[in-house]
Amino acid sequence: MIHIANYIDGKLVSPINNQYLDNYNPATGKVYSYIPDSTGDDVQLAVDAARKALPSWSNLSNIQRSKWLEKISSGIKAKLDELALAESIDNGKPLWLAKSVDIPRAVDNFKFYSTAILHYASESHHTAQGVINYTLRKPVGVAACISPWNLPLYLFTWKIAPALAAGNTVVAKPSEITPMTAFLLTQICEEINLPAGVLNVVHGLGISAGNALISHDDIDLVSFTGGTSTGAHIAKIVAPKFKKMSLELGGKNPNIIFDDCDFDKMLKTTLNSSFANQGQICLCGSRILVQRGIYERFKTAFAAEVGKMKVGNPMQDDSRLGAIVSKPHYDKVLSYISIAKEEGGKILTGGEAVNLDGENKDGWYIAPTIIEGLDQQCRTNQEEIFGPVVTIQAFDTEEEALKLANSTMYGLAATVWTTDLNKAHRMADGIKSGIVWINCWLLRDLRTPFGGMKNSGVGREGGWEALNFFTEPKNVCIKY
Ligand code: NDP
Repeated sequence: MIHIANYIDGKLVSPINNQYLDNYNPATGKVYSYIPDSTGDDVQLAVDAARKALPSWSNLSNIQRSKWLEKISSGIKAKLDELALAESIDNGKPLWLAKSVDIPRAVDNFKFYSTAILHYASESHHTAQGVINYTLRKPVGVAACISPWNLPLYLFTWKIAPALAAGNTVVAKPSEITPMTAFLLTQICEEINLPAGVLNVVHGLGISAGNALISHDDIDLVSFTGGTSTGAHIAKIVAPKFKKMSLELGGKNPNIIFDDCDFDKMLKTTLNSSFANQGQICLCGSRILVQRGIYERFKTAFAAEVGKMKVGNPMQDDSRLGAIVSKPHYDKVLSYISIAKEEGGKILTGGEAVNLDGENKDGWYIAPTIIEGLDQQCRTNQEEIFGPVVTIQAFDTEEEALKLANSTMYGLAATVWTTDLNKAHRMADGIKSGIVWINCWLLRDLRTPFGGMKNSGVGREGGWEALNFFTEPKNVCIKY
């Protein structure tokens, strides 16, 4: 069985303590590889290597760094099939999804920032005759990047690419639940001879390796994507040290459907926005709010279509949903379905585990689940479940829809379905979330700001936002 290695100072190495954790294939419930159970000692080596590599990496020209990013992007592209298979085995997502979304997006992340850095410019202000201000944007230093398990390589590269492009060196920790593609990425970096120490990857648990990384005094910034409670813990440690911090956290996103929507387009997209990646995308619309005039029509059509969605072996092309990422997460999602029932929710479809046979008999599968009859204040409609579970609620007026949409502690994303342009703009203006999709979902432009309001995070990723975050602006004022 494969033993995953850390990548420190340009070399693939074992953890210092030689301890490993089991890595499970969620589709079979079996251990299939081992992950370094790294500690603060490994983090120390990685931070030292990143610190040592910083002067030469940050002094490269943007063109030189851009070429390195392009090489990494090409390296990922050349191994797309291998990486997609690894992602599907590690995470439980359907192979077709990893092939069409996750890995191509990792290619694009590096490609995008390899060109973005060539066009990134800093400001200059003519203040008065004989006075000019200009802004230098220098790399911040050693970046600590921590990413979650739901879109493993996709979100890992979404941080690393802009950090490196801007001239920082990186110590990264992927989720220990899905470490495989980050490991394969480090093999690519080794193959292309990326300068030693520029990127370092330390595998292991959040409570040990992760905590050691964010607490380390010699890192200069933290970029974190994960759950809101982990984000709060990280903020408590990092904020008193006055280090730059970006937190992309959880969501409880509303999908608001008005009577006047294009029903067929809405229904097709809502199947995806509810259950893509087993509902384990931070942007999934888990609270579906439907205007009363089409509530019954929607409920019947949606339940019928969801009932046809195949939950199956991730390797099969016709599996619409694969396995849930881990046993603890599977238990958590099922426990929320029990809570929903206790709260008086009516299960319209799903609501239970799916038992497959053969090699998948011990895998962790849950049927896509629709629940109705719950009010907005119950736990099911307030807490992030992060699985194939959605609720539906009826509303009458635009004001009511807005109030329901905004009544959680989260504010990551929202979707609105209407053919009334004015209403669409009013809703977009009133919804308190970092992202609003009108008549679409997950349509991404990598230049746009990405992130959440309220308890969904602090700061934005994407486009110039990320390059601004990964650089320190210094204003110089000259009188001549
Ligand atoms: P977690 O918060 O549990 O973990 C995220 C990462 O943080 C993992 O690498 C984890 O390691 C690490 N970690 C955990 N504890 C610590 C610690 N004390 N110090 C440093 N690092 C730590 O989130 P999940 O992995 O469960 O991901 C799901 C969550 O991510 C959901 O809430 C989802 O909404 C959110 N998310 C947000 C997105 C956004 O852009 N806003 C995008 C995607 C997901 P380990 O796995 O070893 O515990």
